[in-house]
Amino acid sequence: FKDTFVGKETRPYKRAVTSQKCVRAGGKHNDLDEVGKTSRHHTFFEMLGNFSFGDYFKEEAIAWAWGFLVDELKIDPKRLICTVHKGDKNLGIGLDKEAQELWKKQTGFGNERILALGSKENFWMMGDTGPMGPCSEIHYYSGTGDPKLPPADENHPDWEPWLEIWNLVFMQYERKVKGGELHDLPAPSIDTGAGLERIASVLQHVGSNYDTDLFSALIQKTASIAKIDYGQNSDNDTSIRVIADHARASAFLITDGVFPDKTNREYVLRRIFRRAVRHGKRLGIEKPFMHTVCEEVIASMKDAFPELQERKATIENVCLEEEKLFRRTIDRGLALLEDEFSNTNNNIISGKKVFKLYDTYGFPHDLTEVIAHERSFTIDRDGFKKELNEAKNRSRGAAQSTTNESDGLKSFANQHAKTHFEGHEKSLTTQAKVLGIFSNGKTMPQVNAGESASVVFDKTVFYGESGGQVGDTGSIKNASTNCTVLDTTKPNGATHVHSIKVDSGVIKTGDLFEMTIDKPRRRSIQANHSATHLLHYALKKRLGDHVAQKGSLVTSERLRFDFSHFSPMTSEEIRDVEHWVNSQSLTNAASNIEELSLADAKKKGAVAMFGEKYGEIVRVVQMGEKSLEFCGGTHVAHTGEIGLFKITSETGVAQGVRRIEAVTATEALAYVQNQEDVIQTTCETLRCNPSDMQAKLDKLLSSQKNLEKDIQKLKNKLATGGNNDVMRDLKDIAGIQVLATSLDVDDPKTLRDTGDKLRDKLKKGVVVLLGTSEDKAIVVALVDKSLTPKIHAGKIVSKVAGHLGGKGGGRPDMAQGGGPNKNLIPTAVQVALDAVS
Ligand code: ATP
Ligand code: MG
Repeated sequence: FKDTFVGKETRPYKRAVTSQKCVRAGGKHNDLDEVGKTSRHHTFFEMLGNFSFGDYFKEEAIAWAWGFLVDELKIDPKRLICTVHKGDKNLGIGLDKEAQELWKKQTGFGNERILALGSKENFWMMGDTGPMGPCSEIHYYSGTGDPKLPPADENHPDWEPWLEIWNLVFMQYERKVKGGELHDLPAPSIDTGAGLERIASVLQHVGSNYDTDLFSALIQKTASIAKIDYGQNSDNDTSIRVIADHARASAFLITDGVFPDKTNREYVLRRIFRRAVRHGKRLGIEKPFMHTVCEEVIASMKDAFPELQERKATIENVCLEEEKLFRRTIDRGLALLEDEFSNTNNNIISGKKVFKLYDTYGFPHDLTEVIAHERSFTIDRDGFKKELNEAKNRSRGAAQSTTNESDGLKSFANQHAKTHFEGHEKSLTTQAKVLGIFSNGKTMPQVNAGESASVVFDKTVFYGESGGQVGDTGSIKNASTNCTVLDTTKPNGATHVHSIKVDSGVIKTGDLFEMTIDKPRRRSIQANHSATHLLHYALKKRLGDHVAQKGSLVTSERLRFDFSHFSPMTSEEIRDVEHWVNSQSLTNAASNIEELSLADAKKKGAVAMFGEKYGEIVRVVQMGEKSLEFCGGTHVAHTGEIGLFKITSETGVAQGVRRIEAVTATEALAYVQNQEDVIQTTCETLRCNPSDMQAKLDKLLSSQKNLEKDIQKLKNKLATGGNNDVMRDLKDIAGIQVLATSLDVDDPKTLRDTGDKLRDKLKKGVVVLLGTSEDKAIVVALVDKSLTPKIHAGKIVSKVAGHLGGKGGGRPDMAQGGGPNKNLIPTAVQVALDAVS
């Protein structure tokens, strides 16, 4: 609602009440470490709130919050206190007297129960700029007996039993630049948040959120998996609570399409999840169990959140995969850490090791930190960050300069309003006025022929790259100037920036231009974009509801679609999907594109993208019989324009994410023709028809096998030169038949086979053969078994190979070796003979 508070965005209502799913386990709000330590912090919780957008303000917000707690929930006012902002010199504001007076009037409390606290607790801002304002919090005394009032110092230990249950933010200021002064918001607003779990703990008179009925089933389930009782041992209880909490967060994140991975929110989930698995291991759970705890989350919360039940299979799959993956490396990682514990003498685990555990063994750094703490070690956080940054820089490489460039373009875009886009389907030409020109890193009044620039117009027909669809190209011209539009982007998500080259004339701010986009290219892009919608639907239909879009790219040549799924698609599944998409294109149904209110679009069942922020009015695209998606892109008017749809590849891109690449229309035809060309040339080489290709290849392959066998036989025969020649070298040394000779053989196998045969022929004798292989001299020695007590083949080979400048050895009856000195083969024969005698 930030943009609504400052008046940048309007909504068709002035008040709202919410029940929000919140995750606070990363970024600015990170309560991950708190979970396990406190009984009031969760990584996932539900926040109830009421909002005013320039409607009611402090008086009503205070009266209603108080009334709800005291009259509706019947909480004893003696156990409540409230707080106001005491002012802040740095912000240039004083005590929130208005709130103080209103609380006094409402509650009848004196200042000892309306405490003035500093900005850390009682001033809300998100980042350095934007809407902001003082807060009032309501705290409940969760201790036993009569409440003990805390002093006006938020760090005092007396605050401990006081549980913050509700925070009222009085949105009354705006700061436009970092460090700048605060301006009054023209329409002061309200934003409140109350934690459901905390309120439950108050109403159920239990000291801890974990003892409420929201958690009891989860706690019992976890304890039973671990085969222990809850409430017997405080370390075990902590682990059980951590698991119960983290299973909730995991189940809800996965349901919303977040799967564990190495960056962003995906990494937040991975940290939560792996921390839970570690605690499971602590409790002695040796098999994957998180999916079972998540099942309990689904069972106990599905009435309020039916989406959990819909995503049940996905939750189970993702949990199992992630837990198996982590368990495979956890023991090796723990062993590495154990080594560190015994080897470091300063009780600090180095940044390098922490990084290695993170990078190679998948240990989130805070998990390493937790384990280290348990052993009274700390980790070198800065060192870890340094390693992490270096690794990031390595992979980022030259991307830095483009970041600077895109920062420049973004601030240029921000100087202009949202561009009116007229080029959706109907008109592909228009007349537009130049509002701003940006070239070589600065704003320019004009640019001349031959130069390039980024240009903003008052309106446009050029689609700006977004939602996976690439930007349009084309041309702009007037009586004196011609420019080519090379690309169109929306650096700030709203203003279209045209990247142009001036072909002739000059382009100046204020000039009028005729815009024309490259129509054939746009038609191809549209066909691919519409096909992407149909593909998305077909995948859900064929593979299941767990299929969710994880990314897409739509160009004029092809489309790429990433989606959640756990195994490679079978060729049958791919065929079915192709069939379905093509059947839709054959019906040539008209696509139906409407602008609807967000609520109506959801009611209609349109598929939204997780993580996208939608305004109050959304564009809903209906394609073919069934596909209905939120989409700002451009589409075909009739599905027939998609023509042939052909998947060209299906691959994996990350754990649980598959990627399909496909082509449509003329590109699909070109793809098929290319495949045909390959078959054609192959058939020409094979001299056959495509239908005989397989038979012909089978025949060729089997004949090649036979030929190889024949060649081996011939080689063996050739080596012994008809057998009689070699026998001439047969010598009698002290009554033993010794055949040492060199042969014209160039592979070890033939030399060995020949040696075998010759030894058999000699009966009781010794054979030493020399040959070559890959430009080296090789030698084999074979000694009849009856002679091995006296003569050792290995020793002969080692001497001969030594002579050849190399090494060798082996068994007493058979050995081989070799050396680089081929030219010494003739003299090596004598060495062999000497070695026998
Ligand atoms: P605390 O100081 O207790 O961490 P907070 O100041 O961070 O609370 P807010 O950001 O004002 O809380 O959130 C509004 C309300 O949401 C709180 O009053 C509380 O009831 C609830 N809440 C905040 N953080 C958590 C959490 N991690 N787990 C459960 N409930 C929470
Ligand atoms: Mg907090």
